[in-house]
Amino acid sequence: SKKAIIIGSGIAGISASIRLATKGYEVDVFEANSYPGGKLSEIEIAGYRFDAGPSLFTLPDQVEELFRIAGKNPNDFFEYIKLPVACHYFWEDGKKLNAYADIDRFAKEVQEVLGEPAGSIKIALQKSSFIYEHLSPLFMHRSLHKWETWTNPEALKSYLKMGKLGIFSTMNEANEKLFNNPKLVQLFNRYATYNGSNPYETPATLNIIPHLEFNIGAFFPKKGMHDITLSLFQLSKDLGVTYFFNQKVEEIIVENKIATGIKTSNETKYADLIINNMDMVNAYKTILRKQKQPKLLLNQPKSSSALIFYWGINRTFQELDLHNIFFSDNYLEEFDHIFKKGSIYHDPTVYVNITSVYKPDDAPKDCMNWFTMINVPNNQGQDWDKLIAEARKNILHKLNRILKTDIEPLIEVEEILDPRKIEIKTSSAQGALYGNSSNNKFSAFLRHANYSSKIKNLYFCGGSVHPGGGIPLCLLSSKIMCEMI
Ligand code: FAD
Repeated sequence: SKKAIIIGSGIAGISASIRLATKGYEVDVFEANSYPGGKLSEIEIAGYRFDAGPSLFTLPDQVEELFRIAGKNPNDFFEYIKLPVACHYFWEDGKKLNAYADIDRFAKEVQEVLGEPAGSIKIALQKSSFIYEHLSPLFMHRSLHKWETWTNPEALKSYLKMGKLGIFSTMNEANEKLFNNPKLVQLFNRYATYNGSNPYETPATLNIIPHLEFNIGAFFPKKGMHDITLSLFQLSKDLGVTYFFNQKVEEIIVENKIATGIKTSNETKYADLIINNMDMVNAYKTILRKQKQPKLLLNQPKSSSALIFYWGINRTFQELDLHNIFFSDNYLEEFDHIFKKGSIYHDPTVYVNITSVYKPDDAPKDCMNWFTMINVPNNQGQDWDKLIAEARKNILHKLNRILKTDIEPLIEVEEILDPRKIEIKTSSAQGALYGNSSNNKFSAFLRHANYSSKIKNLYFCGGSVHPGGGIPLCLLSSKIMCEMI
């Protein structure tokens, strides 16, 4: 049978291995770390378990499809629930809002708490689903780099709707037109952070994202986010995929413009297909260093990164749910710091993710596991130790103010993840969470294709290539890639 080598066991690498194995390929995965999953991993500290990276799960169908193509019933291997409340929002002035999954209930809540007409929410979500309907077939499910994508009837239909798809205004401008209350503008602007972009720059087209969370739903895997990795890893092994851990690939072998194999520090292996799941920028700098460099693509600005405090908290809070947001009083300043000043605003928006609300064994009895995160600039060599110490203080002050509790004495255990560590752990350029940012109108076209146009038999999947970062898009990148193989 034909052989394929996959470099990296990120979620896109694992899903590619499943797709290729079901097509009859013999698949070897080489992974630099000792564990699978890349960013989608977990950590354990003294009785607390944390999902290390992603915390929000949308489009579960993309995971289930992998079990189905392997001839299995997904429900037997991977279980998840739909969240009744997507997120709890808190502001400094004491206002609190529950983003109910039930849209009527959410619209009513918005009217009661913020005095915004319920109709605004419905219009916003209709617009969001309109964008999804017209753009997802084009941008999420196909290669942008093949002629057929642009000439199929669906594409032609979308060209006629260009004006309504938000290409000509920013996300913030569109949201200011939709809502009267600035708190609601802020809430909807936050969706830009789902792919590490700036709502004051990114095109309103990104208003596609609320559709995923509200119209389709926010979900939680019953065994935690890490179960996405573990269940798919198990599925791929059941299909005969072989994993080589602690095996960093040092070079992709290219002969006469054909990729033929890989080298690690101790072996050379040949295959019919080479699939790169490593961050595209770092791949060109390292394992493809001898090849022609796609400079325009390599130089695109990167998405934001994250600073995370994994805190074991020895108390419970009734008012907190799985996803909690404590908003900054000045969102524009916060994003200016992240994207223009390369720094951290003194009043950041704080996200607290607590899986022990749904999965009690993630924390000891009467305790909670707080994954406390703020968006920060990607790594440009800042003095991170200083920035982290300041941010920690500011985060604690903010939580103390809004929760009216002194949080620091409740912290039993602590680990920190910062842009430098993200870069080291998963080899992501500048520790960016989602590859390139989408701050530019043309960014969708400035992502690397799922194949190499210069080197035959070399393919790409993962968050730094088309269609983009985040679990669902990573899974789609493998799908698009495997469909062209
Ligand atoms: P990665 O996870 O980047 O993994 C790449 C793998 O390749 C790594 O295991 C690495 O060790 C390996 N590798 C690299 N170089 C080599 C080499 N030379 N040889 C061998 N192996 C190599 N997404 C969401 O959908 N929802 C969220 O809520 C969310 N939140 C996030 C929060 C954080 C803190 C982070 C870090 C990310 C978040 N994301 C979220 C984004 C999501 O995690 C990523 O888009 C996705 O997991 C990336 O998968 P990937 O397949 O591109 O590979």
